[in-house]
Amino acid sequence: MKLLLATRNPGKLRELRRILGEVGPGLEIEVLGLGDVAPYPEAPETGATFAENALAKARDAVGASGLASVADDSGLTVDALNGMPGVLSARWAGRHGDDVANLELVLGQVADVPDERRGAAFVCSAALVSPEGATTVTHGEWRGRLARAPRGSGGFGYDPIFVPDGEERTSAELSAAEKDAASHRGRAFRALLPALRELAGG
Ligand code: IMP
Repeated sequence: MKLLLATRNPGKLRELRRILGEVGPGLEIEVLGLGDVAPYPEAPETGATFAENALAKARDAVGASGLASVADDSGLTVDALNGMPGVLSARWAGRHGDDVANLELVLGQVADVPDERRGAAFVCSAALVSPEGATTVTHGEWRGRLARAPRGSGGFGYDPIFVPDGEERTSAELSAAEKDAASHRGRAFRALLPALRELAGG
């Protein structure tokens, strides 16, 4: 079975391919990215929730490609900011995808927040839509707290300021394998496995 992951992010493609390796022997799922299919207009992410955005992206991908499709939407939720940046994580400082400006803004906003109230979580919703329109939406959460200053060069986005529960390192200081095993996206993708198994006929 061919499965389209509606992303241009090579890291997400690698992660889904690794996780699908866990589907088990006998099931062949080939994961394609948006770079592997004919281009189509990609709608802006305007939903109020991660799940809405993920589902809209997966539905667009099925409509354009005819293939079973997965999409995800994710972000950082900060307790002391009432759950923000949330769905606005990618453009918190005003420009889409300016990772350094985004994390510096969050650090400034919580500068006076004491250690015991610096809780945060990365959150991810993943949506699977079949060519017939059947939908499955899953969620993954990765709890932690905000560091006082950025550390580490791995990952992307807010990783340099996120310290996962049980860790002293930021998620930018973890190996890719360590991050996959615990991360919000890893959890949401893994939760799709039963539905994918069924779709692939196993
Ligand atoms: P998207 O799901 O690719 O749209 O990501 C939304 C935004 O959330 C990204 O631009 C990052 O700022 C943030 N984000 C999501 N997942 C992660 C992560 O694993 N590490 C760091 N930042 C993340």
